[in-house]
Amino acid sequence: MAGTRLAFVAAALVAALPVGASAAEFVTIAAGGTAGVYYPLGGALAEIFNQHVPGVNASVQATGASVANVNLLAQGQAELAFIQNDIAYYAANGTEMFQGRKVATLKGVATLYPEVIQIVALKQANIRSVADLKGKRVAVGDIGSGTEANARQILEAAGLTYKDVSVSYLSFAEAASNLRDGHVDAAFVTAGIPTAAIQDIAVQKEVTIVAVPSDLARKLRQRYPFYTAVTVPGGTYRGIDQDVATVAVKAMLVTRADLPDDLVFRLTRALFDNLPRLGQAHVRGKDVSLEGARDGMSLDLHPGAARFYQQAGG
Ligand code: GLU
Repeated sequence: MAGTRLAFVAAALVAALPVGASAAEFVTIAAGGTAGVYYPLGGALAEIFNQHVPGVNASVQATGASVANVNLLAQGQAELAFIQNDIAYYAANGTEMFQGRKVATLKGVATLYPEVIQIVALKQANIRSVADLKGKRVAVGDIGSGTEANARQILEAAGLTYKDVSVSYLSFAEAASNLRDGHVDAAFVTAGIPTAAIQDIAVQKEVTIVAVPSDLARKLRQRYPFYTAVTVPGGTYRGIDQDVATVAVKAMLVTRADLPDDLVFRLTRALFDNLPRLGQAHVRGKDVSLEGARDGMSLDLHPGAARFYQQAGG
């Protein structure tokens, strides 16, 4: 049978490897949905590793994003993952959605760029504040996303819970098509800007971004210190010409404690040697820098990454 013969050939090939050589090291990079920013950056990273780290066979995987990615790392099903710095912190410390199930294996590689919490609403829904979401149909992010946690926390800061809104768990792409078809009134999106899914809906429908003003941001930060105040500059999306105040967290690249120091060192070095490739994949890739790579880092660094920063003079 062809399968048996293939298995035999594969076994013979492995047996024929010269002493000291090893089979390919598979590096799965857990990203997010395809209409986000993690996914195109993850694709670029896989390309960088395949071209510049001998012996590595890297690929990107579409996932539900941050919380799902923590679980993939914990189960050994991914070697690298994009995770929001707030979610990584909760996982490493066993708090919030990780209450009672601390994930000790998470180690930091680098922080990357700000992820902005964008509450996109149909203009016709007349939603002028977070409190106005009461009674509305709201897409709160995919199951297992960091977006979903941000949605819950921001609603809470405005005195609302999921009982006060009609919640649906949708990826960014699904949220955009549901807004377009009028099946939801608003959607939370935590991602680098511009986010493809929002660009997409903004050219098809009249939309607004609901502000998280400074008083609400302050309240939110008292309980969840990872949020920082930012603005979505006017002109980021078609038809949204005014700056909008909101909050942001940070995207991080995370790995597992059990990965060899040397492998993580080589991956980290390849990342920083090839930053322009990240900038080509998405403009937020241009925010990644050696100087900023430990700002907002909410995990202990992996020793391989720490060695890279030390040698790079950081
Ligand atoms: N930060 C988002 C999340 O974890 C995903 C962002 C993206 O896909 O770019 O929910």
